[in-house]
Amino acid sequence: MKTLLKNGYLFTGGSEPVRQELVVEDDRISALLAPGTVVEADAVVDLQSRAVIPGFVQTHVHLCQVLFRGRADDLALLDWLRTRIWPYEAAHDEDSTYLSALLGCMELLAGGATSVCVMESVRHADAAARAMEETGIRGVFGKAMMDYTDTPAALGGMPDAFIETTQESLDRSMALLKRWNGAAEGRIRYAFMPRGILTTSEEMLQELCRLGREYGVLVHTHACETVPESQLVEQRRGLTEIKYLHRMGLTGERLLLAHCLCIDDEDMEILRSTGTGVASCPLANLKLASGVAPLQRMKNSGVRLSLGSDGAPCNNNLDMFQEMKFAALLQKGINHDPTWMPAEDIFRIATEGGARVLGMEGETGVLAIGMKADLAVVDMNRREAAPAPLSVSTLVYAGNPGMVTDTMVDGRWVYRNGTFPGLDEERIRAHAAEAVERVLRRANG
Ligand SMILES: [Zn+2]
Repeated sequence: MKTLLKNGYLFTGGSEPVRQELVVEDDRISALLAPGTVVEADAVVDLQSRAVIPGFVQTHVHLCQVLFRGRADDLALLDWLRTRIWPYEAAHDEDSTYLSALLGCMELLAGGATSVCVMESVRHADAAARAMEETGIRGVFGKAMMDYTDTPAALGGMPDAFIETTQESLDRSMALLKRWNGAAEGRIRYAFMPRGILTTSEEMLQELCRLGREYGVLVHTHACETVPESQLVEQRRGLTEIKYLHRMGLTGERLLLAHCLCIDDEDMEILRSTGTGVASCPLANLKLASGVAPLQRMKNSGVRLSLGSDGAPCNNNLDMFQEMKFAALLQKGINHDPTWMPAEDIFRIATEGGARVLGMEGETGVLAIGMKADLAVVDMNRREAAPAPLSVSTLVYAGNPGMVTDTMVDGRWVYRNGTFPGLDEERIRAHAAEAVERVLRRANG
C-alpha cells in the first residue's frame, strides 16, 4: 500500500515546516519529495496546506484512570491515592478497564499522540492492551506491581484487590509479557511497572533489574513526585529515591521515571551518567500541588527527557499541546527568564525525546525516510491560531487538539477527518458512562 500526502507542510526538524510531499509505503515513510513531484500511489491525500507533525510520544499515562476524570479533584497526592484512585482502580472490572482504555487511546490519537507508555492497575491490564491493539496506537504497557503491603499510615491500607505476593506479581507480569511483548506487528511492547518504591519490596526490585536485562524491556515507575513521599522513602529505605534505585542497579537506559520533581544535583548526575529517562508531567504536578520539575536544569545536565499527562483524574485530560505549553511556561516563570525552555526544545522533548526514553529511537518521533509512518495532520489556520505563522511556536503556544484532523500510526489512518475508522465512538461513550457508575457504586460499597 502506497499513500501520497501532498500539498502539505512537514515539520522535519527546525522551527518552521518545509513544503514537501510525503510518501508512505506500508508502515514506513518512504520518501520526502519536492512539491509537485508526480508519484503513482494507491491513495492520494490532498492536505490543502495543512501541516504534518511527527506524532507525540506520551510517556506516562494511566489509561485505567480515564473513567475517573473529574472524580478526584483538589486533593494532595497521598490523599488522592488513598481516598479515590486506589479504591476506584480496585473496583474496576475487565470491561470497565477496557472502556476506560478505549476512551484514553481515542483521546490520545485525536490529540496527535501516536505512542504512549501506559501504567495500568494491578489487575485487568490485558484489557488495556486490547484497547491499544484495537485503536491502533503504538505503546508500551505494564501492570502495576505492588507487592509491599506494609504501606505508611499516610497511604492507609492497600485495597484487597491489589494484594499479591512477590511471586504472584512476577508471574502475572511474565504472563503478560509473553502474551503481549511484540504483539500487533510489534506495535505493543511490555514493560515491568512497579508502582512506586513505597509499594514495592526490595526483593522485587532486584528481580526486575535482572528480568529487565534478560528480556530487554523497560522498567517504569514513579519517583520523586512529592517531598512527603520522598521523605517516607528515605525513612524506610535509607536513601533518597534516585540514589536508592541506583544502588539497586536499576538506573540506566532501560529505566523510565515519572516525575523527578524533588531531586538534587547528585540525583541529576546519576540520571545523566546512567542515561535514565524522565517522564515529566507538568499539569499533574500542578494540579496535585506537588510542584514544578527542574526541567531546564535537567536538560542542561544532559538528562533524557520526555512528557506525559499522567492520569486523567489529576490533569484532567491527555492533551500534549497543554503539556508542552505548561512545561515551557513554568520553566520561564519559576526562573524569571523567558529564554528558558524555548518552543523548539519542548516540541522535540514531546516527540523525539519520548521515542528515545521508550527505546523507540530511529523508529518513531521524527518525520524522516525509513521511520515508521506515525504522524498527525494539523490545521494551523484555525481561528485561535490565525494569522500566526506555520511554526513550532504556534504549535506550542497556540496549539490544541482541535487542530488535529487526522492521525496515522504504522502507516494506517487511526483517526480520519475527526472520526475513528472501525470504532463506534458514541456506543463506547455510552457504555463507559454506565461502567463508571457501576465502578463507583462498587468502590463506595
Ligand atoms: Zn502516574
